[in-house]
Amino acid sequence: MEKKTATRKLFDGTLYWPSTLTPSDGLDAHPSLREKVVTRVAIIGGGMTGAILAASLTRAGIPSVILESGRAASASTAASTGLLQFSNDIMLCELAERIGEAQAVGFYEQCRQSVAMLGLLAEAAGSKGAALQPATSLYAASSDEDEKRLLCEYKLLERNGFPVSWGMPKSVPASLSAYKPVAMTAYGDALANPPLLARTLLRAAVAGGCSLYENSPVREVKRRGGKWTILAGEGEVTASHVVVATGYVPGVAAAAQLKPILRRTYALATQPGSVPADFPADTMLWETARPYFYFRTTPDGRIVAGGLDEDRPDPTGDETFLADRSAMLIADLSRYFPNAEFRADYAWCGMFGESADDLPFIGEDREQPGLFHALGCGGNGTVYSTLAARMLLASIAGEKHPLASLLDPRRDAASSGSPSSAPATRTRLA
Ligand SMILES: Cc1cc2nc3c(=O)[nH]c(=O)nc-3n(C[C@H](O)[C@H](O)[C@H](O)COP(=O)(O)OP(=O)(O)OC[C@H]3O[C@@H](n4cnc5c(N)ncnc54)[C@H](O)[C@@H]3O)c2cc1C
Repeated sequence: MEKKTATRKLFDGTLYWPSTLTPSDGLDAHPSLREKVVTRVAIIGGGMTGAILAASLTRAGIPSVILESGRAASASTAASTGLLQFSNDIMLCELAERIGEAQAVGFYEQCRQSVAMLGLLAEAAGSKGAALQPATSLYAASSDEDEKRLLCEYKLLERNGFPVSWGMPKSVPASLSAYKPVAMTAYGDALANPPLLARTLLRAAVAGGCSLYENSPVREVKRRGGKWTILAGEGEVTASHVVVATGYVPGVAAAAQLKPILRRTYALATQPGSVPADFPADTMLWETARPYFYFRTTPDGRIVAGGLDEDRPDPTGDETFLADRSAMLIADLSRYFPNAEFRADYAWCGMFGESADDLPFIGEDREQPGLFHALGCGGNGTVYSTLAARMLLASIAGEKHPLASLLDPRRDAASSGSPSSAPATRTRLA
């Protein structure tokens, strides 16, 4: 029997992305569930994860419905800063030390393929580039000690065929490479407008036959006669598979055993037209320090920067506190661009979840056959959501995905190896 789960605030402050959405980017309001529906896959949660899952299932010709308790694409997805990278919070060299090179490289390769797959999915959904664009990542060494670590990381990635080069590209301003002279460049990453991307994917899924029910909180998920019955809104869905895509706070009791470590992080968007003219718009930067500072650009010429993660789960909307954190992020940004003037037009604080072993919780629940978890912890949430879609398709096809054991939602993440050189908090989060 499902128990009611408490609602927690996911973010506070003033989000940037929702302000970019125009009426034509809108997702029509969808009805709440009032009937009995039979389908193959029921997806609980209409955020980025639900959107990617639904678009992937629809393209594969598998019928699905989405049950969303509020408005789709309005929860953590609206607070994300939209950096999509194949590199993870845990460096490949650190993961290799913990689980062996072959498995670590396999995980990184699945992440690389997931970024590429999301690009194809967005394109097929009609994204013209505003929702998702290809991008290059600069990974800057934060200290002398980190220079050696970063060089090891580069060598391991390069030896395993990942698209990386050593050093800052010539296209970045001299001030930037003077401030952080040691860096690795990674290609094949992407930048998203997360709520726009989620809406684009949801619209495509709905056009392809998926039913989206908004304002339909799931109250109960139960197994009956080899099928799943999901009570939501004033109706009921029967499905052979159910996917929990409710984000960081378990939205249903069937996923209550997943307990991500909840933290909060800060982000801001500068004024339009503030990206220095000599900085390439398709480039993002993050640092090796943990917690780490990061920034990216937006189509209207702002810089979105973030970091300063804290070991406190609940986002703050305290204006003075947020202004203080924004001033710290602006100071970090100004070190890269000493001649530029920045002000924070938008500033927000959001909750995010991590796991003790830095890996997401994805896969079929060993104790609840047919119930699939899609919880992408850490800074790569959207890449993990895409990986979840790939793994779900394999699971439905009856195949064992090569990452099934590594990402098993019921693994004991705490004893799968604690984050090696990374301290307890990190910053990109994302
Ligand atoms: C400040 C910040 C920066 C971030 N930056 C990045 C980044 O750069 N790159 C990146 O990849 N990720 C980033 N993230 C993480 C990213 O936001 C998440 O990975 C992603 O949005 C999670 O999407 P989701 O669909 O799983 O969750 P959500 O967007 O939270 O959606 C879950 C949905 O489930 C619904 N739901 C919950 N319970 C129920 C129920 N019982 N019944 C029906 N529906 C229910 C909710 O209403 C919600 O709409 C960042 C996060 C924050 C806070």
